[in-house]
Amino acid sequence: MAAQSDSHQSNTFAEAASTLVNELRATFVSGETRNYKWRVSQLKQLYKIAENHEPEIIDALLADVGKPPLETVAYEIAMLKNSCKTAIKELKHWMTPEKVRTSLTTFPASAEIVSEPLGVVLVISAWNYPFLLSLDPVIGAIAAGNAVVLKPSEIAPATSALLAKLVGEYMDNSSIRVVEGAVDETSALLQQKWDKIFYTGNGRVGRIVMAAAAKHLTPVVLELGGKSPVVVDSNSNINLQVTTRRIIAGKWGCNNGQACISPDYIITTKDYAPKLVDALKTELESFYGKNPLESKDLSRIVNSNHFARLTKLLDDDKVSGKIVHGGEKDETKLRISPTILLDVPRDSLIMSEEIFGPLLPIITVDRIEESFEVINSGPKPLAAYIFTNNKNLKEQFVKTISAGGLVINDTTIHLAVHTLPFGGVGDSGVGAYHGKFSFDAFSHKKAVLYRSFFGDASIRYPPYTKTKFRLMKALMTGSIVGIIRAIFGKS
Ligand code: NAD
Repeated sequence: MAAQSDSHQSNTFAEAASTLVNELRATFVSGETRNYKWRVSQLKQLYKIAENHEPEIIDALLADVGKPPLETVAYEIAMLKNSCKTAIKELKHWMTPEKVRTSLTTFPASAEIVSEPLGVVLVISAWNYPFLLSLDPVIGAIAAGNAVVLKPSEIAPATSALLAKLVGEYMDNSSIRVVEGAVDETSALLQQKWDKIFYTGNGRVGRIVMAAAAKHLTPVVLELGGKSPVVVDSNSNINLQVTTRRIIAGKWGCNNGQACISPDYIITTKDYAPKLVDALKTELESFYGKNPLESKDLSRIVNSNHFARLTKLLDDDKVSGKIVHGGEKDETKLRISPTILLDVPRDSLIMSEEIFGPLLPIITVDRIEESFEVINSGPKPLAAYIFTNNKNLKEQFVKTISAGGLVINDTTIHLAVHTLPFGGVGDSGVGAYHGKFSFDAFSHKKAVLYRSFFGDASIRYPPYTKTKFRLMKALMTGSIVGIIRAIFGKS
């Protein structure tokens, strides 16, 4: 009976999802979403959501993850507004076809790349920055002229409900919708044929999304995570206070480590590690006080599943004696204090998965150059950071470390630079967005070649003579000398 009602329910979800996609496709086919005016008006409405509802957004994030209001305002609301402003300002320019050079073989001709919308797209987002990560991809989808369905994360239910309400009120619902729900609803959405799926979340579900997309040959962007390392050089006279403050801001100051580009672990030299740990302790205490479990400036752990997952990482026999700072927990309040572990073995649990929480292990090496081998021996991270004054080390870092993005002498802030693409490589993701990259992620780059009836060269047409053969060969290789020789019958 239960199985029957389960299958009845999943049929209902699938029917609802199919009806929704059909409705949105009808709007897309009508051409409405392609209009510049429509795109700008919807981007302005998105801006208004962020502008007019700051208190509700702050409250929703407090309810979902105990996020400090400053972090919500700076890293979710202000970032979304900036994305909207950039898109509104640049849209005409982005939409303008790009003239490109043609080749000798097509002379006379002109060519351009026309950005066209893909159609009806699906955005699936994650719980940790539930406001920004839901609406930021939607900006790209709208700017590029698509109809879009947004599926926020059920793990941030207050923000999900708020997004459904505000998108319902502010946006054109014939082409922009929110579907709330968990695995069943998302699975029903994934069964449909989309023109692009943009997914933010973990790699396990990323594989489910990609497999579903493959059935319809739907392209995907996968914004995933990974273990983002921080290398701290001991030999180049770095400013240790600034270094530790920037590591703390990127780790605990970003949703208490529950951020995709938060520092996941540090690599430094054996003799420098105690100094680094002392500096981190001093700054942590000055930021969060003597009892960080009570600090209002730290998000809580999102739910009991994630609390249990993080506890398991700390309880691993291989690391339980390695805690040099923090380690306090309050299960009822879902709080874990900023915790530093020194000299953890590389085969420990904490070093084999993305931590995504307030635990920061430190790995030590004899020479700082060895850190590059440590990083490159694992899956490619979403971000990698180095603190150094050594020019050579910086160059080597940029040259040898493959990651979604790199920052030298800071952490996480590359995210705010809209002229840089944001996305992963290898296990940390496929595709990128932000600024123009968001517009491109949701556009097809259509190749258009214009010719006239003038200059119809007979060498394309049979009969294929020896002269035509030589001329064609010279044309295809772009050799002017070859062309002249062929015309004058020289081999
Ligand atoms: P999550 O649990 O909110 O899941 C993300 C989405 O996947 C949700 O909308 C959820 O409904 C859906 N989902 C879950 N299980 C599913 C299933 N079986 N089938 C279909 N859909 C399903 O978020 P999460 O995965 O815990 O997010 C954390 C991960 O996301 C981390 O790995 C983090 O690094 C990564 N992340 C990446 C970025 C980025 O921009 N690259 C940003 C934030 C988070």
